[in-house]
Amino acid sequence: MPTVRDTIAAIITAHAAAPVGIVRVSGPDAFSIGGRVFRGSGFNAAHAESHRIYYGHVHHPQTQEMLDEVLLLTFRRPRSYTGEDTIELSCHGGTYVLGQVLSAVLTAGARHAEPGEFTLRAFLNGRMDLAQAEAVADLIQARSARALRSALQQREGFLSRRIAALRRQALEAAATIEAWLELDEDESPPDAGSLRASLSQCAASIESLLRTSEVGKIVREGFRIAIVGRPNVGKSTLLNALAGRDRALVTPTAGTTRDVVSDTITLGGFNLTLYDTAGIRPAKGMVEEAGIQRAIEMASQADGVLFVLDARRGFTTGDQAVLQSINRPLIAVLWNKRDAVPESRLRKLLDTQIATNDVTPVLTVSALTGAGLDVLESVLTQHVRQASESSENEIVVRERHAEALRRALESLQASFRHLEGSDEIVLAAEELRRASDHLGAIIGETTSEDVVREVFARFCVGK
Ligand code: GDP
Repeated sequence: MPTVRDTIAAIITAHAAAPVGIVRVSGPDAFSIGGRVFRGSGFNAAHAESHRIYYGHVHHPQTQEMLDEVLLLTFRRPRSYTGEDTIELSCHGGTYVLGQVLSAVLTAGARHAEPGEFTLRAFLNGRMDLAQAEAVADLIQARSARALRSALQQREGFLSRRIAALRRQALEAAATIEAWLELDEDESPPDAGSLRASLSQCAASIESLLRTSEVGKIVREGFRIAIVGRPNVGKSTLLNALAGRDRALVTPTAGTTRDVVSDTITLGGFNLTLYDTAGIRPAKGMVEEAGIQRAIEMASQADGVLFVLDARRGFTTGDQAVLQSINRPLIAVLWNKRDAVPESRLRKLLDTQIATNDVTPVLTVSALTGAGLDVLESVLTQHVRQASESSENEIVVRERHAEALRRALESLQASFRHLEGSDEIVLAAEELRRASDHLGAIIGETTSEDVVREVFARFCVGK
């Protein structure tokens, strides 16, 4: 772990020209470093109070050159993001200006912060637990209303409190079992019924949290939709129509969308990434073959599939082959190019038996004119809303949490087995303590240093 003795600094705003940019300095020397670079009304490094704003200028500590006109904000420990003495210099947001101010602060004695180091210090100083620190990263990366809600809840400690309660339950059960071991021979044997009930409830609660991990992926990373169909049915045109801008290559020659093209759209507060896959059909050239392979892979990793058909051609054996290659949930079957066929033919097409389950909606659309896309959008929204419903209110766990929950559940189940064979109830207590440790890893109480490092290494500099 980096030591918490030194004082770190970084630009904490985006690295792009903006009206305002902020340099944060955190650590025991934050105020004295402030005193070395800042000249302004009434700021005294030794006596400046917490949560004050000072107006002044930053000067280079060696050349004395004036670098920017700034506001200096003070935060005395522990009432700061990191829990340490912190100052923030609110500067003009040019990348050059900010670089100069940062360099002045580094010359005055700070060290450049590593990625995630401010938040790491907040964790080490007990300002937040590990799950809450992860939520900070989620908050910054949230790209939809749903992702933001989940991240905020986790930041507020919803998940942490659930985990803490489960740990308490496991530890109390372990203590109860250990007390039984102290009983004399002649005392009446304990009633294990209520203990078992408590443990079953604990296991059910863990299982319920585990079920949110699939949803968690969708919420964090967005819902991935593969647009699948034979060449020339209009997949790229559909992607463009939905994304509202020209990204994919649209061409009247079959088999030219060789790569997978994607675009992210927001529908009903959800992030949807649409993948236009190359037409899936027997390949002629090498490049096309590679494209088709990627298309099949993409479609098999998607959270859902839109299957596109050409209304002018009807349902062909080629379409049948493509349909058979789909192994992910089918969101809708789309008869595209409805503008190019008469109404009577559309009605016939809608009656065509396509071997899907009865609940998959079959729609007619025109990617070219946009007709029917509103219905498609509401089908998509409905589908994603259902897929991202969490049984746990807004809580969604990430893979690291799921792994710990699975281990905790295994230990809990092992403790059950030991309780059954009553010779080994001491082992039951041990397993319960192990379950508690696995749960503790989620909030950082029993997490190995390596894992903590890994969590923070994924942060960006300045966070
Ligand atoms: P892909 O190979 O499935 O990606 O198909 P493209 O999107 O490249 O479209 C193939 C051809 O069909 C192009 O000439 C498009 O302009 C045309 N096309 C796509 N959608 C429609 C539509 O809704 N109506 C009509 N009339 N033509 C369309």
